[in-house]
Amino acid sequence: MKIGFSSLALFMKPLDKIFQIAKKDGFAGIEILCEGPYWPRYLINNRKKLKIDEIADLAKSCNIEIFLHAPTIDLNPASMNKGIRDETEKQTIETLNLADILNAEAITTHPGMVHRRERRIRDLAIEYSIETLKNCQDYADDIGITLSIENMPKKFSYLANCPVEHKMIVENVGSSATIDWGHANTYKNPLDILKTHNIAYFHLNDNNGLKDQHLLLGEGTSNFNYEILKCIDMGIIELNSYEDVLKSKKFLITQLGSENK
Ligand SMILES: [Zn+2]
Repeated sequence: MKIGFSSLALFMKPLDKIFQIAKKDGFAGIEILCEGPYWPRYLINNRKKLKIDEIADLAKSCNIEIFLHAPTIDLNPASMNKGIRDETEKQTIETLNLADILNAEAITTHPGMVHRRERRIRDLAIEYSIETLKNCQDYADDIGITLSIENMPKKFSYLANCPVEHKMIVENVGSSATIDWGHANTYKNPLDILKTHNIAYFHLNDNNGLKDQHLLLGEGTSNFNYEILKCIDMGIIELNSYEDVLKSKKFLITQLGSENK
């Protein structure tokens, strides 16, 4: 398994510094959380000043694979409001363009949210989400970048909050899937999510099985046994503190070495 981390842990640090830290600590991947100062439109428009091309070259020379987490805060591909859906599509396409510039492997996005409990409203939201993300998938196909949709925690307002709904959305969009193993731990049977076809990569974090806590790996109830980890090609540790990322990397290396125990 290749181990990477989400830039969430180093939020607000300049992007080139984040890549230098990843190189120093021997990571094989970085997922850039494209929010706030790492907003795709801003990075593309300030390509020179922010050394975007140098970052792509550095990553390539040290075999660091790049992944992008599209902006999802305040956006919603499933919104009842067409203006919000259109803006979500626009910004997801901008994230695909940034991925193209950085030679990234894939971009991950969320299928969106619905704020009412009625079934017919949820069904309409799913229909909207698929329509919005299908347009993004068509663009991703055109430029040859992988678009990947993440499974969300078991909370009613999230779409793809269980393996069945996640699979349905991914299949209808024709995208790849990002498996958040912490989110899966909030399901009745986390292993069901591993049956998903077309998995691009994993987000790794831990929790108590009830809340999406983003705990250090091994501090919650998620299953990080060797049998699980050996199925993961690229695991992105997604935690708030870089110290916890390093501790979790150590934990993973120990678990991966426990094959014969
Ligand atoms: Zn996410």
